[in-house]
Amino acid sequence: MDTTIAKPTETQNFINGSFVSNGSKQMDVFSPLDGSLISTVSLSSAKEVDDAVQAARKAYPEWSGRTIKDRVQVLYKYRELLEKHKDELTQICHVENGKTWSESMAEVDKSIELTEFACSLPQIIANEVQEVSRGVEVRLDRKPVGVVASIAPFNFPNMVPHWTIPNAIALGNCMILKPSEVVPMSATRIAELLKEAGLPDGVFNIVNGGKEVVEAICDHPDIKAVSFVGSTKVAKIVYKRATSNLKRCVALGGAKNHLIVLPDAHEEMTASNVVASMSGCAGQRCMAAAVMVGVDKVDHIVSRMVQEAKKVVPGDTLGSVISKEAKERIERYIDEAEAAGAKVLVDGRKAVVKGKEGGFYVGPTIVDYVTPDMAIAKEEVFGPVISIIRTKNLDDAILVENASEYGNAAAVFTQSGSAAKEVMERASAGMIGVNIGVPVPREPFPFGGWNDSKFGVCDITGKSSIEFWTQNKKTTVKWNPEARTNWMS
Ligand code: NAD
Repeated sequence: MDTTIAKPTETQNFINGSFVSNGSKQMDVFSPLDGSLISTVSLSSAKEVDDAVQAARKAYPEWSGRTIKDRVQVLYKYRELLEKHKDELTQICHVENGKTWSESMAEVDKSIELTEFACSLPQIIANEVQEVSRGVEVRLDRKPVGVVASIAPFNFPNMVPHWTIPNAIALGNCMILKPSEVVPMSATRIAELLKEAGLPDGVFNIVNGGKEVVEAICDHPDIKAVSFVGSTKVAKIVYKRATSNLKRCVALGGAKNHLIVLPDAHEEMTASNVVASMSGCAGQRCMAAAVMVGVDKVDHIVSRMVQEAKKVVPGDTLGSVISKEAKERIERYIDEAEAAGAKVLVDGRKAVVKGKEGGFYVGPTIVDYVTPDMAIAKEEVFGPVISIIRTKNLDDAILVENASEYGNAAAVFTQSGSAAKEVMERASAGMIGVNIGVPVPREPFPFGGWNDSKFGVCDITGKSSIEFWTQNKKTTVKWNPEARTNWMS
């Protein structure tokens, strides 16, 4: 496994099939693995967004005019290229994001699965047609929306762009991607491979940068739909701005996922699942376990979790967090909880990896006897940290989960069908796990949370995304003049 990056080069915008520099305004990009400089990235403005929109508008008539069967031929080839270049894509993700090699590879594997789903869209969206009156038919076609945009966060530089790109373009749209400026490099390779697969110039474009680019996307009159994935604070800003400009928008926000553990849960499986859920991707995923609600006597499971957590080694089985600021924020939450009376059973503060002293590491951390009023219990920590809140019964545990402003995922660990059903029914979250710590619904099921974890009607992937990336055209047809006339004629 090669974890080095050749000489740092500029990560450029990709507009109309070519890489273009936005020379003057650049930002340094560092690897969180060791703090080394790996690239610089263009900080673009409304001008570059407009350039990309013009390229997309030019490409749109030809691309949207193809049949969907024709369009997905490009994605079949692209899927093969993702497979062929998996090691290289894994390496880029590992180095720019800091997650482990195997987590990075899993991300690319998920991108392949998302692309496969898009390849199946011709089968899924076959038209509906019905003879609604004698001799009169109505057919429903799904037409693309036009030029659309996708704004991505730092924590899945390869996978999150694939939540939107394959489906949006398979359905006939032309897209502008705005990657996170702290992890812009995966998107460059995605653009190169889409081009190699035969995607026409202008169908997919990248505009790098930060807030200014996002605002220009929300304001541009020729962008018809905006998808966003990131923190709740920014999701709210983007949702309000895009919809006030009369665009459709789906904006996925942050999370605070609760895992309810009952005393009858399978000890070994529960402990390893909870620890894997909270520490995988260094806790920087919107599906990570953040709070374990331990119902009644669960000390045996907590002890086992402590053993499991001690096996998770920063720099080996645990990647880095994204930045020095993130490390400091995570450690501050632990400090404050401890000062307020919580008990730190496994302490990941001040983790340093030998040979990578410039990297940003937090070891796995288990904080017990957290109370619901503590900041660590309510706010998104986004690190490899789990807070344990104790309750006397399942009812109280569900109330703790329900009180969260977020609602991405929730899970229950038990061997009781009725307890599991109770949580399935009453948890206030969009994705529920039963004896599963990271309940990501795989394709064709859609991904998306509730409450402050998602704004907008559709989910972002799977069949639900078809509604978002298309508009329905309903055509009523009568060819036979002999057909009986009725109130519709
Ligand atoms: P972020 O909100 O800081 O950034 C997301 C995107 O918004 C980036 O492209 C960034 O450049 C842009 N941005 C940042 N500040 C902005 C502003 N003031 N105005 C306009 N645009 C702005 O999120 P992040 O730190 O990159 O990612 C982590 C967050 O994303 C976490 O909260 C995590 O839970 C969330 N996330 C959610 C999901 C989900 O499915 N719900 C998935 C992945 C990540």
